[in-house]
Amino acid sequence: MIEVSKKCIGCGKCVPVCPFAAVNMIDKLAVINEACTLCGACVQICPLQAIVITREEASHRDHSGFRGVWVYVELTETGDKTHPKKIKPVTFELLSAGRKLADELKEDLCAVLLADKDRGYAKELGAYGADKIYILEHDELFEYNTDIFSTVMVSLVNRHKPSVMLYGATIQGRDLAPRVAAALYVGLTADCTGLAIKDGLLLQSRPAFGGNIMADILSPDSRPQMATVRPNVMKLSEPVHGRTALIVREAAKIDKSLRRVKVLERKMSHGGGGVKIENAKIIVSGGRGMKTKEKFRQLEELSKLLGGVVGASRAAVDLGFKEKAHQVGQSGTTVSPKLYLSFGISGAVQHIVGMKASDVIIAVNRDPNAPIFNVAKYGIVGDAHEIAPRLAEALKKK
Ligand SMILES: Cc1cc2nc3c(=O)[nH]c(=O)nc-3n(C[C@H](O)[C@H](O)[C@H](O)COP(=O)(O)OP(=O)(O)OC[C@H]3O[C@@H](n4cnc5c(N)ncnc54)[C@H](O)[C@@H]3O)c2cc1C
Repeated sequence: MIEVSKKCIGCGKCVPVCPFAAVNMIDKLAVINEACTLCGACVQICPLQAIVITREEASHRDHSGFRGVWVYVELTETGDKTHPKKIKPVTFELLSAGRKLADELKEDLCAVLLADKDRGYAKELGAYGADKIYILEHDELFEYNTDIFSTVMVSLVNRHKPSVMLYGATIQGRDLAPRVAAALYVGLTADCTGLAIKDGLLLQSRPAFGGNIMADILSPDSRPQMATVRPNVMKLSEPVHGRTALIVREAAKIDKSLRRVKVLERKMSHGGGGVKIENAKIIVSGGRGMKTKEKFRQLEELSKLLGGVVGASRAAVDLGFKEKAHQVGQSGTTVSPKLYLSFGISGAVQHIVGMKASDVIIAVNRDPNAPIFNVAKYGIVGDAHEIAPRLAEALKKK
């Protein structure tokens, strides 16, 4: 909580230092509005210590007013001028998981959409289980910006008080969620691989200690309980077309000066940067067992013949066989293709967590005891350099 005491003489020093335009001078007194994120800049500048932030001891907070499971709706560019943005698939995965949490808590599942324009996103959000959609439209929300989006999210949370908030562990979610958590003075569990309800609290599971153990985390003193979840981890539910959600339009006053970063130019990175491994239906992946960059190229051909994308273990990436954008696993991308073909990958736990949700896993390894065989539906014990070209030949004949 932030308060301005009677000591305030209206010197105005606190107004320009506020990065969030949350302080105004009204009748020669500092007045703090809801854009305040408790960053403390005004407290430090005040010569009379007239502005005071009191941080309640977490365990004394009253959580009774916090209700609802919120999912942040992430939009992605389509490259099409008529429909420039579409909803990122991770949003639907979060709604699918959020639906179960909301049912268990007997609370609403809400989608939160920040966009320059509502382009009819509600149908899809409703089909994947949202009961309510908070929509905030503003020109300043066309492109993701940390300062603007986090300020808007904080003010929405302060207004509606959700009990749970979920974000995709994407580049955007990983930027936004910690900002919001810090501003609200609550915790955040990053990269969850499991979510459930335990005694009315969000049970957040995630790998810890390099993936060697699974940690179960509860946040009894934080509201909202916040988590990020990697794409392709939560099972997508079947959409119920025609299922509608209540739309709540929120008004937004956004101060442009909040934007500290201006995008001057965009350049697409080539050489791996454009690869969309997380959405691939077929992945042909290679590891250290492929031995050299040249030999690794056998997998490129196979992947082309299958209409797939090439993946790699971290060892293969570290050895320079493939770019980082292709890395599957804990510190790479989590994937769930229909078919995952692995060549010369041992099956370390950090690799397995990133691909075990694949529908069918076929592993090729010359060591019959390689752990990859524990998750593979079909295993071939043999030399990857013999088997990959033979498979390619067979496919060419077909
Ligand atoms: C914090 C942390 C995060 C990590 N994140 C990731 C991650 O995101 N992704 C990831 O993959 N790893 C990750 N790792 C690394 C992980 O622990 C392993 O080191 C890595 O996955 C091993 O890669 P690999 O299976 O290609 O190599 P190795 O473990 O060296 O396995 C090579 C395999 O190839 C087989 N082989 C050799 N020659 C042939 C042949 N001719 N034909 C067939 N098989 C052959 C061998 O029998 C062996 O099983 C992470 C580690 C840490 C600590």
